[in-house]
Amino acid sequence: MGLINWLFTEKCPECNEHLTTVKSETIVALVIKSCPVCTYKKEFHPTLETYIESK
Ligand SMILES: [Zn+2]
Repeated sequence: MGLINWLFTEKCPECNEHLTTVKSETIVALVIKSCPVCTYKKEFHPTLETYIESK
């Protein structure tokens, strides 16, 4: 799954809501997606090609 696909189709694994994207203004190479319903959050680091999940 590519980054673009991930940005627009990612859903919360907890409650299946569409995650909202919060792009960091201070750190360019960081995209944060969070669930509007529960506390699920996912940080994506394009330069590291990895992501960090947190609940
Ligand atoms: Zn959720």
